Amino acid sequence: MTTLRDVVSVLDGLYDPAWADDWDAVGTVAGDPDAPVTKVLFAVDPVRAVVDEAVEWGADLVVTHHPLWLKGVTSVAATSPKGSVVHRLITHGIALHTCHTNADSPHLGVSESMAFALGLSDVRPLEPDTDDVEPDRGSGRIGVLSSPLALADFADHVARSLPAHQSAVRVAGDPARPIRTVALCGGSGDFLLATAQAAGADAYVTSDLRHHPVSEHLEQSDPCAVIDVPHWSAEWTWLPVAADALMQRLPSVETRVSTIVTDPWTAHVPGTV
Ligand SMILES: [Zn+2]
Repeated sequence: MTTLRDVVSVLDGLYDPAWADDWDAVGTVAGDPDAPVTKVLFAVDPVRAVVDEAVEWGADLVVTHHPLWLKGVTSVAATSPKGSVVHRLITHGIALHTCHTNADSPHLGVSESMAFALGLSDVRPLEPDTDDVEPDRGSGRIGVLSSPLALADFADHVARSLPAHQSAVRVAGDPARPIRTVALCGGSGDFLLATAQAAGADAYVTSDLRHHPVSEHLEQSDPCAVIDVPHWSAEWTWLPVAADALMQRLPSVETRVSTIVTDPWTAHVPGTV
């Protein structure tokens, strides 16, 4: 019998909690380590729709990328959305486990998964972790396309390579600029924009980019192109990779990747010039 403890042990081996940022809250949120686990649902966000899917499918465990809580709480009463999530999970005997910043940087992690989803090869960390003996762990990734694409075509390629959403893929740069070397960071990647530029990337793909960093980046000579994709769709690319990695190590466990779009943006209206 496979237990929650067994699954967590495999996940900890892949995504060591020690790699999480200090401010983060990773690990098991709800669940009994001795409880049997046969069905594991992977999702980006621990929200009501995902819990509903877990209940309907009969999952024993939900593994999410985003934590339910980052700060201490004094109540899990079902009077709040998050309390309600906990109640519904426990009522149905479903555990919740989070691999967040500890899953961003390693092999089989979020940024590496996104790099492969975009079809890059020669993939390596954009900012390698210097405190680590593993050469393939670090923030972001950089790799190359098999053949160059104009920025406009590359942006289409990026949009098609990520799961569908109602939000926007935003582009900064000359649409005809050839793109071959691509840097990226799954999730909010403002902090690696200068690193992508210094690494000689033709384009940097990430999420949640703000006005000022991008504006200042574009003012320098020969700035790399920038593509902003929805945070949810970028990080979703990790789900099938993590699910597959778990299944390979624990073949008795059945996994499913949630396709519910939990991107908070539900529509976009193109601006007019
Ligand atoms: Zn995220």
